[in-house]
Amino acid sequence: MKHELINIKNCPICSSENHTFWRKGIDHNVSNDEFNIVFCNNCGFRFTNPIPSENTIGNYYKSENYISHSSTKKGVINKLYHIVRNRAIKQKERLITSLTKEKNLLDIGCGTGDFLGYCKSQNWNAIGLEPDEDARKIALDKNKIETFDLNYLDKIESNSKDVITMWHVLEHVYNLNNDIENYKRILKPNAHLVVAVPNCSSYDADHYKEHWAALDLPIHLYHFTPNDIKNLFEKHNMELVKILPMKFDSYYISMVSEKYKGGNIISGFWRGFISNLKAKKTGKTYSSQIYVLKNIKN
Ligand SMILES: [Zn+2]
Repeated sequence: MKHELINIKNCPICSSENHTFWRKGIDHNVSNDEFNIVFCNNCGFRFTNPIPSENTIGNYYKSENYISHSSTKKGVINKLYHIVRNRAIKQKERLITSLTKEKNLLDIGCGTGDFLGYCKSQNWNAIGLEPDEDARKIALDKNKIETFDLNYLDKIESNSKDVITMWHVLEHVYNLNNDIENYKRILKPNAHLVVAVPNCSSYDADHYKEHWAALDLPIHLYHFTPNDIKNLFEKHNMELVKILPMKFDSYYISMVSEKYKGGNIISGFWRGFISNLKAKKTGKTYSSQIYVLKNIKN
């Protein structure tokens, strides 16, 4: 795969230059290239290093298996994924409704706009940002949602949104700290940012190690734990107010991980079940989690 690699010198959370190798992993979707994840010796944050440059990362998204932006329903896992996703969309809308009375929503990485389409039907004033042009076209044609490319983030009016959502998107963001400052600028005081990301301190992450599907190298630049989310956003004066589980992700990620290591779907399903059972005890070690962050204005 043609790419240029960028070496990350400073930890994106604490800026320390002191990090060591944590785990390697393979890009199972496109290139079969191998990538490394490092561990910050100061704050514990794990991040992919080196990473493909922002100009070349697009090549790694060109996969038939990359389903989050598509409407294809090939294969058992994909079918299941799409059924559960529709139910999840309603749960997500209920969550954001519980946070605010005013309904101005920005969804970053909105894909084909299915979530925003549903929100619009529930009287949200909703726009989306999405880098993929084909996905944006579907968002407009199918869901009647106005979407923009990522550069539009700078143009969105300050103090204008009641909620910003990022469903499995933050782990892909290149200019992490700059963009978070921009989210803060756009949010009203005490408004919320809702972020869903995989949890690399979950049982299934630990069980599958380098085969864990949610490592998703190299397009996942960061491998968050709940503590990392708290540290990262505290730095930007945003308070972590709630953690919610995404219980289906444990099953989905475990089943795909089994596929990567040559196991079978049933074992994956079982691991997903165990992962959720173990996470229930702690309430914050699910395979993927939703983090609700409150914007404390300086
Ligand atoms: Zn650090």
